[in-house]
Amino acid sequence: MLGQGLKGGAESEGRDYHSGMKPFAAELVDWTRTDHVLLDMDGTVLDLAFDTHFWRDVVPLHYAQAQGIALEEARLRLEPYFTGLQGRLEWYCLDHWSRLTGLNLAQLKAAARERIAVLPGSEAFLDAVRASGRSLWLVTNAHRDSWQLKMAQTGLAGHFDRILCAHDFGMPKEDPRFWPALRAQHGFEPQRALFADDSLPVLRAARDYGFGAVVAIRHPDSSQPKRVIEEFSAVDRLEQLLPIA
Ligand SMILES: [Mg+2]
Repeated sequence: MLGQGLKGGAESEGRDYHSGMKPFAAELVDWTRTDHVLLDMDGTVLDLAFDTHFWRDVVPLHYAQAQGIALEEARLRLEPYFTGLQGRLEWYCLDHWSRLTGLNLAQLKAAARERIAVLPGSEAFLDAVRASGRSLWLVTNAHRDSWQLKMAQTGLAGHFDRILCAHDFGMPKEDPRFWPALRAQHGFEPQRALFADDSLPVLRAARDYGFGAVVAIRHPDSSQPKRVIEEFSAVDRLEQLLPIA
């Protein structure tokens, strides 16, 4: 039930962190064995509600206007693209979507920037990781235009030692070749690293690569209900991994 997410945290085996009854989930991570924290951006540090709104409302609306079709028709036409590209780098590529739709998506995203938001407790977690002296990297599948806009809007860039973008490695985090490629350029010890993300395929790839701790985010989108996650150790939000020992 607890899943295989936490290697090196045997003391937490068999305890139910999914019930939501415990005030802290700090025991999910053995901080004495963690030197390095790697975090996803959308749905982990930032509220995925922005992306949900953008792709579900903004893009279909502008596509409908540009094509002179009804909103529902626009959604129907876009749907196969969404499902067909999931898990591939193109899915995260604004240029690709701009070509596909004929819309300037970077511009549309910038126009909607007011809705970009940090998940509650993220900043407290980032501050605590930095204060503990551990290195902190943001590792995102998001397109450069997207993550730069979001960092500018939230002012969070300065919290990270590095911001690494999957597009610079030519493959998304879901790809088993991703972590070896990243590590070849940016050395770190996976057994002594914690990785948190809201995407199960991404978490599986990280687990398979041998991260010391892999943690799923249960409530990545404030506009949607919390999810039930059984495959990985999970917290509603990053803040629940505090305090850092
Ligand atoms: Mg994410």
